[in-house]
Amino acid sequence: MENNKNGLLIENGWYSERYYHKNVATSFKIKSVLHSEVSKYQKIDVLDTYGIGRLLLLDGKTMVSDHDEFVYHEVMGHIPTMVHPNPKRALIIGGGDGGIVREFVKHKDLEEIHLVEIDERVVEVSKEFFPDCTSGLTDPRVQVLAQDGVEYIKSRKNYFDIIIIDSTDPEDFAAGLFTKEFYNHVNEALTENGIMMAQTENPLYDEYGIKGFYDNLRSVYPVVKSFTGPMLIYPGVFWTFAFASKGLNPTNLNEKKFAAMEEIQKGLKWYNMDWHKGAFNLSNIHKKVTGC
Ligand code: SAM
Repeated sequence: MENNKNGLLIENGWYSERYYHKNVATSFKIKSVLHSEVSKYQKIDVLDTYGIGRLLLLDGKTMVSDHDEFVYHEVMGHIPTMVHPNPKRALIIGGGDGGIVREFVKHKDLEEIHLVEIDERVVEVSKEFFPDCTSGLTDPRVQVLAQDGVEYIKSRKNYFDIIIIDSTDPEDFAAGLFTKEFYNHVNEALTENGIMMAQTENPLYDEYGIKGFYDNLRSVYPVVKSFTGPMLIYPGVFWTFAFASKGLNPTNLNEKKFAAMEEIQKGLKWYNMDWHKGAFNLSNIHKKVTGC
């Protein structure tokens, strides 16, 4: 096993990410390393691969690939906008690849979309190598702020209808995004029908104590549900997401928006309203690990 000059785990042209206490790995055959830099916050690499197109890595961990990013971005972008009765303001903390913004701008009823990403270099690198993901950033409703989401959220009260936490794993400067204190601040920043969503890792490769995330959410929000979407590039594929709200049930879709969503979902690769209605029916292990 060799580390090339970019410090990535590459062997015979294969890039590998190790996880689950470094006992399991996923590998991708690569054509080339398109970009590599160390920003103020993390190492940012972009690989060109044979199987999954371009691949964004942060500190050697897979973040976004051309091949499967639509799953993550569509479920995070359309579930809350189809449940909330009248969403006007949305916030994404993290998400510097722009993928969720791309989905939000498809909803004409949204008036403000704020992206608060701690590392502006992630946004710039994504603009250069993932132009489809970042295609929504030029929409006039979108504001991009290079700030720490843990601090930013304290400046907002009763302002956002939807808040998405699209962060890296709960480590270093992202750890604060998985705490009860942070979830309380998010709750204060949400309006009365507010919805919060976050990625919550793989229950079968639980390295962070996923139940703890959900217990923290349940200590703040009356409604806490979970669902899954397959992410080929994430550890073990079986990825989970949390839906938390002040009262709205995620399986109650807003009928007034059906016609508009019928149009939007024609252009989508994963999300549709039938999938949405069934997404919260969980397997036993998913129920056990999340307590949902
Ligand atoms: N969808 C990917 C996943 O689930 O692994 C995450 C993609 S997105 C690129 C993650 C972003 O969260 C990174 O760009 C990172 O800089 C940002 N981030 C981490 N901690 C943050 C914080 N405290 N405030 C704002 N952004 C943060």
